[in-house]
Amino acid sequence: MLDPETLLSQLVGFDTTSHRSNRACIDFIRNYLEDVGVQSTIITSDDGNKACLWATLGPTDKKGLVLAGHTDVVPVEGQNWTSDPFVLIERAGKFYGRGACDMKAFIACVLAVLPSFAKRDLQRPLHLAFTHDEETDMAGARRLTDHLRKEGIVPSWTWIGEPTELYLIDQHKGTAFFETKITGVPGHSSKPDKGLNAIELGAQFLDIIKRTAHGRKQKPFADSRFDPPYSTFNLGIIEGGTAENIIAEHCRIVWQVRTHPGDDLDKTLDEIERTTTKEIKPRFAVFAPRAGMSTCICSRVPPLMPVADNPGEEILKRLTGRNDTQAVSFGTEGGFYQGLGAPVIICGPGSIDQAHKADEYVNREQLTACVALLEKTLAEVTK
Ligand SMILES: [Zn+2]
Repeated sequence: MLDPETLLSQLVGFDTTSHRSNRACIDFIRNYLEDVGVQSTIITSDDGNKACLWATLGPTDKKGLVLAGHTDVVPVEGQNWTSDPFVLIERAGKFYGRGACDMKAFIACVLAVLPSFAKRDLQRPLHLAFTHDEETDMAGARRLTDHLRKEGIVPSWTWIGEPTELYLIDQHKGTAFFETKITGVPGHSSKPDKGLNAIELGAQFLDIIKRTAHGRKQKPFADSRFDPPYSTFNLGIIEGGTAENIIAEHCRIVWQVRTHPGDDLDKTLDEIERTTTKEIKPRFAVFAPRAGMSTCICSRVPPLMPVADNPGEEILKRLTGRNDTQAVSFGTEGGFYQGLGAPVIICGPGSIDQAHKADEYVNREQLTACVALLEKTLAEVTK
C-alpha cells in the first residue's frame, strides 16, 4: 500500500488538463488496482482519447457505495505558478500541484485505503468511478452513468470527493448553456423592409431571456439555501453583422441557465420556445426557408437535490461530527449519479478556494483526515 502523498504525487504527475488525454492516468489507476487484485472496466470516449474507470470490490448482487471523482484538471496556462504545476511539492505542510485539491487528493486517499479492503471478505460492494471532462461538459460522468444504467447497477449512495474541506454538501444548482443562431436576410441598409435583420431579432430574443429571468426572480424559492434563491440566466456572448450599412444576416447568442433545484429546466425551455414562436418566428414567414433560427444545447448538467433518506449523510455526519449539510454554488457530477436513483453526498479534502488557481494546494491534515474518514466509512458500509 502506498501512502496518499506518494499517490497524489503520482496522480499530479499526469497532465490531465481536460483538453488532453487522461488515458495514462487511468492506466496508472487500473494497474495499481490490478496489483491488489481488483479488476477495472474502462469506458472510453468515441475517439478513444479519454477514459472512465469503473471497478467493484466485493459481491455484485447487492447495492454498494460508489466512491467517485474526476481525473481531469483545469488548464495552467496564463497562471503564475511558483513551481512546476505537474510536480507535487510540499512546503510547510501544504502539497502544491495542479489537481492537488480538485480533485486528485480524494482519488489518492481512496487508492491509499483500498488495498486493505481488497483483502477483506466484503459483505457489501464498494465501487470506484473515475471520470474525465468534469471541468468541461461532464461527458465522462454522462457516459459512465449511462453505462451503469444499461448494466442495471443502482448504488446505495455515491460519495463524490470534490474539495469541501470535508464539509458535507447535498445540494447545488444545475448548469446548462445554449447557442442560439439567427439567420436573417441581408440587404442594403437604405431599404430595411427588403431584408430581415438578424441582430434586431437577436435583440428580441435577448428580451425574452431577460423577461424569463425576471419571472424567476419574482418567484424565489422559500427556504432556499442559495444566493440568489432562484434560477439565474446569463447572456455570455453575442456576435453578428458585417457593416453599418448592411442588414445583418447573422446573429449568434450564447447563454446560460443555472437552475435552482426544484425548477424544471425543460419547462423553462418550453416557455422560452413558446414565446419565441409567438413573438419572433412569424417574422421569418415571408423569408422562409432562407431565414430562421435554432438553439442547440451545448451542455446540460443536472442540479443536485437533497433527499430525505440519505445513508451517506447519516454516516458522514456521525463520523465527521457535523450536524448540517450545505448547498454550494459550483456544479458537480452529483446530478448524474443521483439520476441512477441513489443519494449523493459531496465531501472531500482541500478547499474550493484553492481550486483552479495558481499554486493550488491541499493541506497534509486534510489528506490524513480524509484517509481516516474513508477507512471508518468503508469498514461500516461493507459489513
Ligand atoms: Zn472538481
